[in-house]
Amino acid sequence: FKDVNKIYQVGDQEVHALSQASFTLEKGKLTIILGPSGSGKSTLLNILGGMDRPTNGTIDFDGEQVAQLSDTGLTNYRRQKVGFVFQFYNLIPNLTALENVAIAAKLNGNDAQSESYLEQVGLRHRLNNFPNQLSGGEMQRVSIARALAKKPQLLLCDEPTGALDSKTSLKIMALLQQAAQNPNTSVVMVTHNPTFEQYGDQVIRLKDGVIDRIDDNHSPVKLEGLA
Ligand code: ATP
Ligand code: MG
Repeated sequence: FKDVNKIYQVGDQEVHALSQASFTLEKGKLTIILGPSGSGKSTLLNILGGMDRPTNGTIDFDGEQVAQLSDTGLTNYRRQKVGFVFQFYNLIPNLTALENVAIAAKLNGNDAQSESYLEQVGLRHRLNNFPNQLSGGEMQRVSIARALAKKPQLLLCDEPTGALDSKTSLKIMALLQQAAQNPNTSVVMVTHNPTFEQYGDQVIRLKDGVIDRIDDNHSPVKLEGLA
């Protein structure tokens, strides 16, 4: 990300949601994006994931100029490279846990592995439950399994623990640290909660659309075993 700006036009008012944002993500690392409500976290994540476009600036993904892609190019980028995890899970209510994952896995031709993705997140025993038969933490695990089933190079999580208690949140954190052990994947987690910064390899602090500070080479507290 280099000098990325995002200006929303609301009527005749301009909202500078992101100003001159620059940072680098590394594969095999977990980055925490920390900032208060309205600081531009989701804006940044959505641009990173090809859900939205910057007003200007450079986004270089392994040499691909993401901001310059055509609409089709951007859709392909999003489908092929990015897995999303949201605060409220966004599972399909009339599909089981296994079917929710299989739908994403199919895009990659590896739906035979859907069960193993659910196993990875500790849900071997909940394959046939519908979302309304799962706890919040379990639904978030399904949504992580679904994102991982795409074998994404970017796993982007927007407040994934926002609706969960602190113990369950730590388990989700542990899963994200585990996902970041894959040397082909960069994991990014957005949060307004400063207690999570200790778990990231890199912490990007946002304030009013401006990156205040970046701590890289952060020595994260490892949550291994919890996942
Ligand atoms: P939260 O923690 O509450 O989710 P956030 O850090 O994710 O906040 P953003 O959603 O990125 O914040 O919003 C950043 C700023 O941009 C805010 O001032 C918001 O009002 C504005 N904004 C976000 N989306 C739009 C939009 N689609 N149109 C206009 N303004 C927007
Ligand atoms: Mg947000």
